[in-house]
Amino acid sequence: MHIKPIKRITGGAVQYDGAGVKLVRVIGYHDTKEFDPFLMLDAFDATDPKDYVKGFPWHPHRGIETVTYLIEGEIEHGDSMGNSGTINDGCCQWMTGGSGIIHQEMPKPSTLMLGTQLWINLPQKDKMTDPAYRDIRSSQIPLVKGEGKEVKVISGTYEGVAGPEQGDYVRTLYLDVKLEKGTEFTLTLDPEHTLFIYLVRGSVHTDGQEVPFHRAILFGEGDTLSLKAGDEGARIFLYSAKPLGEPIAWAGPIVMNTREELAHAQRELQNGTFIKHA
Ligand code: MN
Repeated sequence: MHIKPIKRITGGAVQYDGAGVKLVRVIGYHDTKEFDPFLMLDAFDATDPKDYVKGFPWHPHRGIETVTYLIEGEIEHGDSMGNSGTINDGCCQWMTGGSGIIHQEMPKPSTLMLGTQLWINLPQKDKMTDPAYRDIRSSQIPLVKGEGKEVKVISGTYEGVAGPEQGDYVRTLYLDVKLEKGTEFTLTLDPEHTLFIYLVRGSVHTDGQEVPFHRAILFGEGDTLSLKAGDEGARIFLYSAKPLGEPIAWAGPIVMNTREELAHAQRELQNGTFIKHA
């Protein structure tokens, strides 16, 4: 057993994106090498609807998956394939952009909007796969209970319990972990896989440090995650997957492997041939 050390702590910086949504960009454009295959993590934690109701009006995606999960709140969604629906408290939307989708994501006023949107890169061979939209309801997400802990399995498998997703293109472990004060949490993982956690609430002690909420911790070499919740307990999102190790060309909501592919996507957006699968 080799306990994973902290490799990097990120987060904390407030930014605006979409039509003016206040969010914490936990990881992004400059972090792709270390967080591969994860491209971006935006966190929402807002009690004032003014911070988010302008939303993310119609925009394209290609070459990535976006995974939106809300502990609380409501986001209305619509896309170029004719899907529409609402992501509510405890629900998850797993969207495969693939060859191209145009969608909008519009949060509705609620007392608290608390959740994240994760971008997972698609492997080169799957960049132009058919787009897909999966609406995962709260009731489909299994809850594993232990002493002082509750773990929701959104994707992958935890203690033999499989989540509603595994990740069709990038096998992804995505857990929502709630720990009471002082509760220890350990997990054995493939040492080759990227692992990071985002602290939604509370704090954790790991590798001799206490890390507060609104931060993410990227872990380094080792096969075992070991942490302990702080005095306020902890609510953690855990993300892990095998790195792709492929070149990244990224422009806004489109992430490909080469600049030529980005230019091609831009031309297709201009001449109306971007959407391959409506
Ligand atoms: Mn989007």
